Amino acid sequence: MGALTVVSPTRPVLALTTHPLQRCGAWAVAVLAGRAQPDDVTPDDLDAVAATLVDDIIAVSVLPKNPDWWKVLFALYPNAKPTHAKRGRDAASLRPLVAALFAPDTAGEQAHPCAFCAAPATVLWAKAHLPLFDTPHAVNTLPPRTAGWPVCRSCRVALWALPYGAWVTAGSATVLMCANPAVERRFVIRNVTRARRIQQVGFTGVPADASAEAVTLAALRAHSADAPVDAVLWSFKNDNQEAWLRVSATRQAIGRLLVRIESTPAVRLGWHRLRRALARHDKNRGGYTAIARTLFADEHGSVDRLLRALHHEFTEPPADPVAVDGWRRLARVYQEEMYGMDVERLAPARRLVVAWITAERNPRGRFNEYTRVAGNAFALHKLLMEATARLYRDSGRPADITGITPTLFSTGPEGWRWRAQLFFEVVAELVRADVSLSRKPDEGDDADEDDGTIRFDPTEEEVYA
Ligand SMILES: [Zn+2]
Repeated sequence: MGALTVVSPTRPVLALTTHPLQRCGAWAVAVLAGRAQPDDVTPDDLDAVAATLVDDIIAVSVLPKNPDWWKVLFALYPNAKPTHAKRGRDAASLRPLVAALFAPDTAGEQAHPCAFCAAPATVLWAKAHLPLFDTPHAVNTLPPRTAGWPVCRSCRVALWALPYGAWVTAGSATVLMCANPAVERRFVIRNVTRARRIQQVGFTGVPADASAEAVTLAALRAHSADAPVDAVLWSFKNDNQEAWLRVSATRQAIGRLLVRIESTPAVRLGWHRLRRALARHDKNRGGYTAIARTLFADEHGSVDRLLRALHHEFTEPPADPVAVDGWRRLARVYQEEMYGMDVERLAPARRLVVAWITAERNPRGRFNEYTRVAGNAFALHKLLMEATARLYRDSGRPADITGITPTLFSTGPEGWRWRAQLFFEVVAELVRADVSLSRKPDEGDDADEDDGTIRFDPTEEEVYA
């Protein structure tokens, strides 16, 4: 039996399919072979990458104590020959078993279309060799009377090159799907480098504050000048009980948002300061992962995590007007790019709230009052009506907010976004006007916040000038 020839003028040696695991693996094969894209992979490249996979698998499978790279393989292929608990630790006997996984399809046998790329395939693979297919709840995921899925050699190599191209942990793998191939390639290049490091020194040798989201964001930022695209992360985990899948995604407008963050110094400063603020809360060194995650909608469909993170920071704002202005501008470009919001429409409402808060001898008390209702449509509406009446009596001409009223006080996500932006606008104005809003560091929990003084703190001005 000779090797089945699968090379044809129209079909590349290695297909880049829309299956997220095969796709990531195909990119990994291309990167390991030093090619620009999977289409460029030659039969010799495929042989060389298969040989590399076999060497790397054997290197970790024969050791008495399972190294981290073996744990990565075990999470993906828990019942394969080199990851099985009862495997032999002898390289000479293990090697042919592993090499057979990537053997060419054989001529003379009846070929079936590969389950991933439709190329002729004569090898059937079941869940032992397909990544993350193994779960006790899926005893048999195959059609009736079939012994496995047909998987061609190229896709078999790709599916085992997956841990090089994916963001891996000892129990999970995350792959990226993006319409811009340059972003996918960059994500995979970074992960291949990381995989090599894990193979050499284990997980302790790779940076702790990094994540699939942070790597994706870096890749998107590097290509933000290209056409706008979204990015979808598929996280697969096999905890030996039950495999699960988690999908998180950015939205298409993220490309334009990133361009504006890069190109506007004040917004970029807001972005960096937010990252540092998030790092402080999470103690996650640097905050790169925390801030990257603000741009992804999670599996529960929570969007606008950036606005929520900013909302949290604005509630006890620092006295630094530069940082707070940067956050306000960051929120503005986010609202403009993601929702087409015309933030200028909020100007009268901003003037009204600021005038009402600063008219009081104790702005902290009114600020707290506003903060409590800022996100609530009904309570905010009530407070602004009272503020309008109060200012009308005291000064005669409060700002007219009727133009924004239906939008600002609507229920649902849109109304919340407008109220959040108003909150940012108000706080940034108050901080800019040096109205002290923060609890002082020496002020304990029982300290009286409402002591009736406006806090203009000259030392803060010196510190932040
Ligand atoms: Zn295939």
